[in-house]
Amino acid sequence: MTTTYHDLLGGEFWHAIPAYEEIDEATFLDHLWQQRHSVKTPEELVETIRELASPEFIRDVELGFHRAPMAVRVSPYAIALVDWNHPYDDPIRRQFIPVASALLPDHPRLVLDSLHEQADSPVPGLVHRYVDKALFLPIAVCPVYCRFCTRSYAIGPDTENVDKVELAKTPKQWHDVFAYIASRPELEDIVISGGDAYQLPPKNLELIGNALLDIPHVRRMRFATKGPAIMPMKLLTDEAWVDALTHIVDRGRSMGKDVVLHTHFNAPEEITEITQRAMRVLFGRGIFVRNQSVLIRGVNDEPERMQLLVRRLGYLNVHPYYVYMHDMVKGVEDLRTTIQTAVDIEKFVRGSTAGFNTPTFVCDAPGGGGKRDVHSYEHYDRENGIAVYTAPSVKRGRAFIYFDPIDRLSPAAQERWHNECVAQEMIHEALARAGVRDESLVPA
Ligand code: SF4
Repeated sequence: MTTTYHDLLGGEFWHAIPAYEEIDEATFLDHLWQQRHSVKTPEELVETIRELASPEFIRDVELGFHRAPMAVRVSPYAIALVDWNHPYDDPIRRQFIPVASALLPDHPRLVLDSLHEQADSPVPGLVHRYVDKALFLPIAVCPVYCRFCTRSYAIGPDTENVDKVELAKTPKQWHDVFAYIASRPELEDIVISGGDAYQLPPKNLELIGNALLDIPHVRRMRFATKGPAIMPMKLLTDEAWVDALTHIVDRGRSMGKDVVLHTHFNAPEEITEITQRAMRVLFGRGIFVRNQSVLIRGVNDEPERMQLLVRRLGYLNVHPYYVYMHDMVKGVEDLRTTIQTAVDIEKFVRGSTAGFNTPTFVCDAPGGGGKRDVHSYEHYDRENGIAVYTAPSVKRGRAFIYFDPIDRLSPAAQERWHNECVAQEMIHEALARAGVRDESLVPA
């Protein structure tokens, strides 16, 4: 591999978008301007890109909006990164703007909350699945809405297809979460996600950070945000937010506790010279950043593109921590890919840079098994797209199944999934080959 990962998009690239032709750099870097001008409707998209997209494409987008499980919200930064000459194939467009013609029928085993987070939630807004770790969801909004969101059951406003579940969104509700964490001495590691920590006002960021640092057994905290990937300029122009994060990191360090930022870059095109400047701010303040990507069809499911993403992240001192299999959520089957694809890409990427800068490819086991190394299946029926995992330290004795997207299977296998009796038999066979005898221990 050459050093193409050094070549980041710079200059005033947003001037290619008709609505941003006159926007100067100071305005484009203003995080409040970015939030105010985020695109949320097909009409706003048309006003922004005007003649860049054909009427057929816009009609396709309008229909896509009606069928999507997630609301749409795209920052001007992300809009400016789309190649509007080829919007159907564009990796940024594919993540955030649905088009009806690309949608595929759901696999019959898909559900809305595929990770069964609600079942592992002892108090609203907290998921406690692993022994020593919990996931705190204090906010239900994000600076962007990703079509593939695992939490499409709760995140963003209601859509025509989904009424969202309520999370704990107020400081009063958060007290129940803090009380639960304080009552469980085994909880050392708290992820603050949502929604997105970017959207927490600085005072709430500090309130949450300090409340968790004050719990003696909490040793590690991670604030999760997609923000650096789709609105990096906030780290350059929202000094109060960066200061609040810095205070928590510094206070944690003074107490011997680890506080880091987790972010979510998926495509190499998301990383520009603005990103580079933004990540230098965090690096300069001693804030460690890890990245968690999702493996998405047409975004990063080619070995060379994933390698480029990984090298670019390493170049910016962002640790490429995980690449997840796309969760088995409804309404986005065009974005999922197969376990075999992940195995092949992992093989290609490993060895192209230092091991500590190489992501682990994981399948977040559907039904609440937690993250399993994609290679660690007990059995993988490639013909019918059925991978069986176990998770002895998370839910002993249980098996968890990941189903490949049906359109990626042979015509004969696709046909078999249309017959429920045959489908049951295929699953039964895969479980038997994995050594699972008691099928009542497989989450529905
Ligand atoms: S930023 Fe994260 S929580 Fe928000 S929509 Fe995207 S994947 Fe979901």
